[in-house]
Amino acid sequence: GPQTGKPKAKRWDNLLSVESRERKPCTLKQAAKHLKKPGLVSLGGGLPSSELFPFAQLAMKVPTAPCFSEKDTLERGQTITIGKYDVRDRDATYDLSIALNYGQSTGSAQMVRFLTEHTEIVCKPPYADWRVCQTIGSTGALEQALRMFCDKDRRDSVLTEEFSFSTALETIAPLGIKAFGCILDDQGLIPEAMDDLLTQWDPEARGARKPHVLYTVPSGQNPTGATQGAQRRRDIYRVARKHDMFILEDEPYYFLQMQPYLGRDQPDAPAPRSVDDFLSSLIPSLVSMDVDGRVMRLDSFSKVLVPGSRMGWVVASEQIIERYQRHAEVASQGPAGFSQVILHKLLDETWGHEGYLRWLMNLRLEYTKKRNALLAACEDHLPRDIVSWSPPAAGMFMWLKVDYAQHPHATHRSLEEIEEEIFTSCIDSGVLVARGSWFLTEKDKPLPGLYFRTTFAAASPEAMNEAIKRFGKAVRDSFAGK
Ligand code: PMP
Ligand code: PLP
Repeated sequence: GPQTGKPKAKRWDNLLSVESRERKPCTLKQAAKHLKKPGLVSLGGGLPSSELFPFAQLAMKVPTAPCFSEKDTLERGQTITIGKYDVRDRDATYDLSIALNYGQSTGSAQMVRFLTEHTEIVCKPPYADWRVCQTIGSTGALEQALRMFCDKDRRDSVLTEEFSFSTALETIAPLGIKAFGCILDDQGLIPEAMDDLLTQWDPEARGARKPHVLYTVPSGQNPTGATQGAQRRRDIYRVARKHDMFILEDEPYYFLQMQPYLGRDQPDAPAPRSVDDFLSSLIPSLVSMDVDGRVMRLDSFSKVLVPGSRMGWVVASEQIIERYQRHAEVASQGPAGFSQVILHKLLDETWGHEGYLRWLMNLRLEYTKKRNALLAACEDHLPRDIVSWSPPAAGMFMWLKVDYAQHPHATHRSLEEIEEEIFTSCIDSGVLVARGSWFLTEKDKPLPGLYFRTTFAAASPEAMNEAIKRFGKAVRDSFAGK
């Protein structure tokens, strides 16, 4: 993505951790640059020879865009093959002999090019020196990013949503870093509350330095399902800028932005008619407003293709991507060659950008149907005077708020006890929901309410209906003092 005419990103030396600043380039990977010299015989690197790779060809059956259904794929999908020497023999750009050998830890140049083009189509970062680097998914990428910016010896801390992705909290805690929660509404982080919290920061009372890292999930936040609108994102960016924070934008659900919910039995909102329509319907990423280069966007194929690919990518400034790469060189070494060659074949050579965006458009409509089925079940089976929710605009989660104050034991039993009672009763009647307390950012604070996270991603409409019926009964029983 080098872009002329745009300013360069700011430098972040002051925010990087000692660990990250200390990283030196990987000596052996640096030597790879000499391999470009024509006629050079390499006895230097430890690359095994591809003649000893026991894979000559892979074959896979995939959908032909735009007929993406499972049935269409089984009946009319195309079977494509990947050979060991397709570059030499079939004029291809990538093959098994390349993908299955060692490479740079950014992942292959072929896949990096596709992802750079994709980022330019979708995000258009407004500064010159942005780059992408492949990852082994956002879980690992977040762990690396946190270690790049946070130092326990500096008493660093991270600001995030009051209820946050539990795995992220479990990544932060053992690094010796504190996580602090900011209150939310149905558009996620509240910028004024963020600003107040940061302005009034007292390091002694808090036991940590004022957070200089914001970890946020702008679309379909896990667990609350909240989606920040465009203005909300601009306001959050402005507050982060005012307090010179670096933003880790975790966007696995960005492309699960759904059609607006117009109400039960209302006609569907018209679907995007073209790829351009679809792209302009998406709320801009924080990276799209990032004039300073203070955002790292974490993207992942997990929710839009397959979680088992263990493939994703980050977008950030050249300085930050270079530091990220230095870490990857001594950790994951980038995503698996099998994953890269398979996704490259599908995305670049078979679908192309247009086909991939059509796949994402199709996913939008599929998730809209699933969400609407869960909403219908909630409307049919939940006691509306006790349980409330807002229809999620993105992602796969719906956050159910239970009005604890109406509970007959509210005065003498804790929120946790009532949460536990409802959760156990749900399990007994055959439904698993996630407890709000699992996601509480500041575990030493009292729970701010009684919440349960449900997902519409996994179960059929019939199964969801039954599950919500069981959840509704568990809530009713508990509130009836049974
Ligand atoms: N340890 C040693 C001693 C090695 O020689 C190598 C490969 N050069 C590795 C680790 C890296 O192995 P892997 O490709 O499984 O990360
Ligand atoms: N970030 C958030 C907010 C998630 O909800 C998830 C998945 O549950 C992940 C990251 C994990 O993504 P990946 O599979 O790319 O590691």
